[in-house]
Amino acid sequence: MQRAVITGVAGFIGSHLADSLLERGCSVVGIDNLLTGSLANIRHLRDREFEFIEHDVTRDISVAGPVDLVLHWASPASPVDYLELPIPTLKVGALGTHNALGLAKAKGARFVLASTSEVYGDPLEHPQRESYWGNVNPVGPRGVYDEAKRFAEAITTAYHRYHGLDAKIVRIFNTYGPRMRLQDGRAIPNFITQALRGEDVTVYGDGEQTRSFCFIRDLVRGIIALAESDVNEPVNLGNPAEMTIREIADAIISATGSRSRIVRMPLPTDDPKVRQPDITRARTLLGWEPDVSLAEGLGMTIDYFRSRVATAGTSPQGELTPR
Ligand code: UDP
Repeated sequence: MQRAVITGVAGFIGSHLADSLLERGCSVVGIDNLLTGSLANIRHLRDREFEFIEHDVTRDISVAGPVDLVLHWASPASPVDYLELPIPTLKVGALGTHNALGLAKAKGARFVLASTSEVYGDPLEHPQRESYWGNVNPVGPRGVYDEAKRFAEAITTAYHRYHGLDAKIVRIFNTYGPRMRLQDGRAIPNFITQALRGEDVTVYGDGEQTRSFCFIRDLVRGIIALAESDVNEPVNLGNPAEMTIREIADAIISATGSRSRIVRMPLPTDDPKVRQPDITRARTLLGWEPDVSLAEGLGMTIDYFRSRVATAGTSPQGELTPR
């Protein structure tokens, strides 16, 4: 692969994908409208084979020159974001995916869609295999994200079947690591920020709901393996090590050496009770599996958050303004 386009390049995963492709000698065109992404995530790429285009991919995408790979990552992805941005979330999953597919088709490029374990909704099958069709409430608050991604999978598959596009779909399970926002809203960044600030750690519901957390480096390695493969069916990528939310909160409090206490808050509507990827397909077809332990991954993430918390002080958003 010589030249890749990444939509959502200024986000958590998009920026790590850019790093990885640049390291492999690929040049990268990154697109982002900075709705939830941040220039701080890509500032270090200024002197590399990297070009940034500030653009909303729900409008036509135009990129000059050849493109070999399109990675479509643009979307709000934290539940608090897609609750606040329901229509942009639906539009980027639908119109944005259509435009990104159109770009790949026009350039004869491969295409990878960032899909999600949310396509399984509040799953009635556990762990989740790719053959499971899911249990999604289309009119619930999470429906804007879940259904947008389900539509995105359907149109991606249609481009593959009807236009012969070499399209891949990755269903990403909970992932964490450096460059998540301090107040991203998701469990791990929330808990780390709260623990480092000595604030109460907010566990929603009884904390017995489960998730399975994958470190960003493992995930990116899996995405690149999928992009380079001849696989066209959806592939789960995630770490099958399942734990309760209460357990991850305890692990973070102890890894940060914090004195924070756990407080209970109401469970959001339609919050999935369990989630664990079956990664047999990724193991078999890509030879991929995660190898970063939770202790190691949390250590690297906490180091990153420690430096950010120190700089961000107590601003309400807890965010760094781009410098
Ligand atoms: N959660 C929590 N406290 C928080 C943020 C999230 O208890 O401050 C819970 C949330 O209700 C869910 C789990 O942690 O059960 C994972 O939530 P997250 O927002 O990380 O992503 P999800 O897996 O729900 O998409």
